[in-house]
Amino acid sequence: QTNQLFQDLRRQYPDLVEVWYAQDIFPEILPQRTSWGTCEGEPCRTLIVRIANKRLLTDSVPEVFFSGALHGDERIGPATVNELAKFLCEQYAANHSEVVRLVDGRATWLMPMTNAHGYANYRREENSMDPNRDFPYLQRSDRCMQTQTARAVNELFRRHLFQFSITFHGGMRALTYEWGSRNHLARMKSTESPDEAAFTQVGQSIQAAAGKTARSRWFYPLGRINDLVYPVDGGMEDWSYAAGFENSPSPITVCKPNTYGGYPQDRTRYRKGSISTLIYLAEMDDRKTAQEATLGRTAEIWSVEKSQGHIPRNLRMCLKLIEMARPEIVVQRVMTRANPGPGSDISVEVAGFGCEQVTARLLMASSSDLPNCDVGADDGAALEDTAFQKVVASKQIATANYKCQGLTLWGSRRAAFVLEGKLPADASGEVCLLIAAEFDSQWGHQVHPDPSVNPRSHAARLRLEEQYHAQASDGPNIIRARRTKLFAASKTSLLVSASTQVTPVMPELKGSATTSTAPPSFEIAASATHTLQEDANVNANSRAETSKPPSLRQPKQPALETEQSLTVPLYAIVSISFLSAISSGLIGLASMRSGASQGKANIQDAVHEAELAKMVGQSQPAE
Ligand SMILES: [Zn+2]
Repeated sequence: QTNQLFQDLRRQYPDLVEVWYAQDIFPEILPQRTSWGTCEGEPCRTLIVRIANKRLLTDSVPEVFFSGALHGDERIGPATVNELAKFLCEQYAANHSEVVRLVDGRATWLMPMTNAHGYANYRREENSMDPNRDFPYLQRSDRCMQTQTARAVNELFRRHLFQFSITFHGGMRALTYEWGSRNHLARMKSTESPDEAAFTQVGQSIQAAAGKTARSRWFYPLGRINDLVYPVDGGMEDWSYAAGFENSPSPITVCKPNTYGGYPQDRTRYRKGSISTLIYLAEMDDRKTAQEATLGRTAEIWSVEKSQGHIPRNLRMCLKLIEMARPEIVVQRVMTRANPGPGSDISVEVAGFGCEQVTARLLMASSSDLPNCDVGADDGAALEDTAFQKVVASKQIATANYKCQGLTLWGSRRAAFVLEGKLPADASGEVCLLIAAEFDSQWGHQVHPDPSVNPRSHAARLRLEEQYHAQASDGPNIIRARRTKLFAASKTSLLVSASTQVTPVMPELKGSATTSTAPPSFEIAASATHTLQEDANVNANSRAETSKPPSLRQPKQPALETEQSLTVPLYAIVSISFLSAISSGLIGLASMRSGASQGKANIQDAVHEAELAKMVGQSQPAE
């Protein structure tokens, strides 16, 4: 039934959905090709699915993994994972800008019925073997990698560098993270993993995405597996977090199982640094098979307050983790005069996505240092060192430290922010506006890490380390990152000409290198008058506004967070021609839909924005 669902989904969305069976693509897990069980009247097969824009896939695309059910009698996980796949495809087809970002820039791997045999036969185990005691972690060498379930997961993790994962279970209610094994217990309590800071912060973030109970408490208690669930030997959780950095053969076991014709020992020896996933164990309900009425509907995903169903709740957690796999800056709009010159005001409205916290700098680089303003693959990480260093040392226009806005699918109290300043006095010719950003530095915080090493997860290291490179045990997949990531504010360069400083209103400015001493409103009024005479592209709203005396004009107030300290800018001119040229960089333009930003923008701005959106060909969000 689930197999059919995914085959149908693949036919319907051939560019987004790929479907495999583990026994076909990983023949070493079943060397004699014999039947290992019957599932719905047929030989069992382990379904593997990838949701991603196939045409944009690279060896370094950020990857996440969701396991529906290691225990076949725990039924909510598979239902959730199925709905996740459908949701991503349907909203992608509807051109929902945030879902497009998740599917174009990340790869989501699913094993809906990880334990295919147990799921088909309503049993916890696979042929009487428990898959979640079958991983190479603190296990006897003949007691691990016995199941098709664990071998299929193992082969996938050998080839892919999953940053985040949820393994869905049922039977109690808890959202938990490392550690979950005896070797990381001290006085009956779990010790802290080296990634405690990332585990707790991201954990709180997905706990919030899951929402609260009818009694206004978090639905999911959050804590370490050892403390809220119990320690196990051979658990998937500790293995998938630590197989890339803990010692072999203990606790990372080298497995020599006898089942199903055996499995080569070298399949449980891993490349150093390869497997280091931030994985969450979600125990979703006290009942393993939830009552139909408690499942909820995917359509309830849009409101975290109003939905109490398992499916929308857990779907939101998955979406949040997919988002977090790639910290990035989303440029929502760029505002400057039509013919900017040295000292011209410039402001760039941006949102942090895939992160908790961001420090961003708006830079002006010469287009000769960065041809076509192209930062290259992996957010600048693929640039040569010398080119990269030159670009990050470019003139700084503005800087800010903000909370990331992230997904706004189910409402967000966090807003976009504005980087604003003036073009440098020596600006001229073709320049590139860039944003250099650093994310989540607080993930480096440690108190008593066990073992005593720096954060080991891919997700933390690609944020914290000057340069980070990881390679999967098998196959071509890599992570390539720099701590400072680069994002182009526009797809095209900006032409800065010195002549626009000459204005009829303020002739004393003629020839001066900078206008920073002039009151901002005069500078803008002067520029506006000048621009009106020269530039026929100014739209009606701007023209009406600029014809008023400066004192009567309402300053436009972008949505601001309380802790931010930027001054409120006065925008007189928005260059439509410039915006049109960079429309491809303005993915978020039409998605300014958080309550805060809508509430504060005045009506004229709202109309203005809608018109801009129309002019640059952006569609409204699908919901
Ligand atoms: Zn379970």
